[in-house]
Amino acid sequence: MEDETEDETKEQSSEQQTFEDLGVSRALRASIEALGWEVPTPIQIKSIPTALSGTDLVGIAQTGTGKTGAFMLPSLERIEMGKGLQVLVLCPTRELAQQVCDDTEALAKGTRVRAASIYGGVGYDPQLTALKEGFEVITATPGRFLDHLGRGRVDLKNVRTFVLDEADRMLDMGFRPQIEGVLRELPRTRQTMLFSATMPHGVHDLASRITKDAVWVEAAPSGTKAEGITELVYSVKPEMKPDLLLHLLESPEWEQVLIFTRTKAGADALKARLDREGIRTEALHSNLRMANRTKALERFAQKKVRVLVATDIAQRGLDVEGISHVVNYDVPKDPEDYTHRIGRTARAGAIGTAVTFLAAADLGAFKSLTYHIGRDLERIHLPDFDYAGTPQAVSGASPTRGRHSRSPTGMGSRDADDLTDEELADLLKY
Ligand code: AMP
Repeated sequence: MEDETEDETKEQSSEQQTFEDLGVSRALRASIEALGWEVPTPIQIKSIPTALSGTDLVGIAQTGTGKTGAFMLPSLERIEMGKGLQVLVLCPTRELAQQVCDDTEALAKGTRVRAASIYGGVGYDPQLTALKEGFEVITATPGRFLDHLGRGRVDLKNVRTFVLDEADRMLDMGFRPQIEGVLRELPRTRQTMLFSATMPHGVHDLASRITKDAVWVEAAPSGTKAEGITELVYSVKPEMKPDLLLHLLESPEWEQVLIFTRTKAGADALKARLDREGIRTEALHSNLRMANRTKALERFAQKKVRVLVATDIAQRGLDVEGISHVVNYDVPKDPEDYTHRIGRTARAGAIGTAVTFLAAADLGAFKSLTYHIGRDLERIHLPDFDYAGTPQAVSGASPTRGRHSRSPTGMGSRDADDLTDEELADLLKY
C-alpha cells in the first residue's frame, strides 16, 4: 500500500489541472462540459490518473466531493464495447445506486456505454433486460444483486472494475456477508476501488484485504465538513421544536430545506404539521413505497415543495442541487451521520447552512458529536425557544479535543458543557 500525502504546494499547483491533464478522453470531456464541471475536484485530481492506469484505489471521501466522477470517469475510459458487464458498483442504498447510475449515464452520454441500476423494491423486468443485454455498467445494492447472481442471471467474467461505494455505511448496515458473496464470484484479476467517508478499523481491514498494492487518496481528513457550510446549533425545548422551525422558515433565505428526523413517525408528524401551516412538504422514509419515495425526491429536487422531511435513509446518496438548509431536527445519534447529513447542502462549491436542534436531553449526544467531529459548533440561544428559558447571547460551543471553548465572557464562569450531566439535569430541572 502506498500512502499519498501531498504538501500544500503540490495541492495548489494541482488545482489548476484540467480533466484533459488528468487523461480524460474527448468524449467524456464533452459530457463533463455539458454537466458544467469546469475543473476537477481534489479527489478527482488525486484518483483519476491512478485509476486510469488500472491500479487499485482506496479513496477517503464523502459524498459531495465529486467521488462518483473520481471512480466512474476512469472506469468508463477502460470499458471495451462488446464485452458486456465490465464495471460493477455496489452501494448501500437504493437512492445512491440510482444516483450513481444517473451520474454514469450523464458522463457516458457521448459513448455507447449503457448503465443500469439494480436494487430491491422495484420490478425485475428492466433489471433482467440490462443483465441479459450485457449493460457495461451496473450500480447495485448488495441484496438484490446477490439475488440475481444466485439465479445465474449475471455474467461477471468480464468485470474489470469493482467499486465499493460508501464502504463504511455498507458495513454499518450489515452488508459484509453480501459483499463477500459478490467478491467470491468476481474475477480475481480486476481493478478494485473502495470509497468511504471514514476509515474505521472494519473498513480499513476490508480495504486492505480486497485491494492489491492500492494507492490511498483522501479528499479531506475524515470529519471535516465540506467548504461553504455554516453550522449553527439552536438550543430548544423539545415541545418548541416545531415553533422554532416555523420561525426559521419565515426567513426567505430558507429556500430549499432538508430536515432529518430520528424516526419515521416523527417525519410524518412534522410533515403533517408543516402541511397544516401551508408549507409545501414531502416526507421520505423506508415505510413509504419506492414509487412514493422517488416521487417525494423528485418534487423536492424540482422545487415543487420547499421542505423534505427525511429519516437517515436520505442522508447519503441524496444529490439535490440547491439545498439551502439542512436541519437536524434531533441531534444525530452517530457523529458520522452528522457529517453525511450536512453534506447534503453546499454541494460542489455552493454555500449552505446546517442547523441542529439541541434539546437538553441530547446534550450527551451533542458532546460526543463535537468531540468526534473535532470542531466547535456555534450555539444560538433564542429566548423564546431556548431550553434554559433565559435570554442569552450567542455563545461559543463546547470544548473539543483539547481546544479551548470559544465561550464569550458574560456567560457565567462555566459553559453548559463543562457541567456534569447530573449538574446539568439539576440546573435545567429537565
Ligand atoms: P458526488 O460526491 O459524486 O456525489 O458529487 C457531488 C456533486 O458534485 C454532484 O452533483 C456532481 O454532479 C458534482 N460534481 C462532481 N464533480 C464535479 C466537478 N468537477 N465540478 C463541479 N461539480 C462536480
